[in-house]
Amino acid sequence: MADTHYLDWPFFEPRHRELALALDAWSAQHITGHHGEDVDAECRALVRALGQGGWLRHAVGGRAQGGAAEAIDTRSICLIRETLARHHGLADFAFAMQGLGSGAISLAGTEAQRARYLPRVAAGEAIAAFALSEPQAGSDVAAMTCSARAEGQTYVIDGEKTWISNGGIADFYVVFARTGEAPGSRGISAFIVDADTPGLEIAERIDVIAPHPLARLKFSACRIPASQRVGEAGQGFKVAMRTLDVFRTSVAAAALGFARRALDEGLARAQSRKMFGGVLADFQLTQAKLAQMATAIDSSALLTYRAAWQRDQGRSVTREAAMAKMVATESAQQVIDAAVQLWGGLGVTRGQMVESLYREIRALRIYEGATEVQQLIIARELLKAGA
Ligand SMILES: Cc1cc2nc3c(=O)[nH]c(=O)nc-3n(C[C@H](O)[C@H](O)[C@H](O)COP(=O)(O)OP(=O)(O)OC[C@H]3O[C@@H](n4cnc5c(N)ncnc54)[C@H](O)[C@@H]3O)c2cc1C
Repeated sequence: MADTHYLDWPFFEPRHRELALALDAWSAQHITGHHGEDVDAECRALVRALGQGGWLRHAVGGRAQGGAAEAIDTRSICLIRETLARHHGLADFAFAMQGLGSGAISLAGTEAQRARYLPRVAAGEAIAAFALSEPQAGSDVAAMTCSARAEGQTYVIDGEKTWISNGGIADFYVVFARTGEAPGSRGISAFIVDADTPGLEIAERIDVIAPHPLARLKFSACRIPASQRVGEAGQGFKVAMRTLDVFRTSVAAAALGFARRALDEGLARAQSRKMFGGVLADFQLTQAKLAQMATAIDSSALLTYRAAWQRDQGRSVTREAAMAKMVATESAQQVIDAAVQLWGGLGVTRGQMVESLYREIRALRIYEGATEVQQLIIARELLKAGA
């Protein structure tokens, strides 16, 4: 771990510092920095390894269900994502999806649901996914049309979900579908759908610039027991937003990890690349770049860990999480771009760490609420407070 001064910030307790340092040492030993050819196999192996290492215990809430604590600790989730992202984008993804995919169960599941799914998620024995987005309902979540019709003691799901991370390798999906109790966001419920349920098919695998398991799902008269509903009927949107409140801040933390790695790579290259009778770092233009990278990273870290700390105090973090996600993802993009520039031609060469970071960061500015959506959230909170 190159720079650990931030672990002394007042947002953290000694256990957080221990966790980050232990994971950093474990990551250096157990995971490597490049995606292989087969992301499905690599992702499955990472989930297993993270489970065996005990790290996935932090992704679920409840000690009886294998969790590290009774409730999900946002600072731990963020430190884990930051650390993993610094080592290996896919390891961060594997960890994050276990948490996001099971978050609704940790936060709103029944005892039976928690007992059935969470221990396997925490052990890395079951892979989780979160299915909210649809082809015509991305930023505008409330436009979703995927429906779940109550029929006796069952629900019948029809429709599509897309951009579903872990789609194709997940053992279960937490699916949000319209149940129609009220219009818009008040008529949505959450369900757990096991991957082998008849009527659920992987309609398409989606290839993205930083490859992850990703798919479009199709539900055709997919029948599940009513006991698979998570939370009250019609409350699914709230369940989704509560889940995102935890994990949105952790997207900022992942961006921070990518940016820290880019700065490390940039520093190393600037200090070793010989040119004009010295090295790249001798020049003030380079120093200005490095100074801006480091300052952007500290600003993102302050916003990220403020939001995480605030949520762990039991306070609302709508505004703070949105600020953290917006600033950390946008500025990580700039930090990584600067690192690519420092590396020159090598920076755009396939297989170089900065090249893979450049591809890895892009989607973070889009998913779990694009930057523009975060801006709207921040402004809405400001205007509400001012009214
Ligand atoms: C790699 C990846 C993984 C994903 N994983 C998951 C997952 O696991 N589960 C899941 O449910 N979804 C997932 N998503 C989907 C993701 O959440 C959506 O892509 C995102 O919500 C944006 O929706 P959209 O792609 O339909 O874009 P659109 O809603 O069409 O938005 C396009 C653009 O419009 C702009 N915009 C949006 N709203 C406004 C506004 N009000 N004013 C001005 N501009 C605006 C933004 O720049 C946005 O990027 C994933 C996406 C990606 C790329």
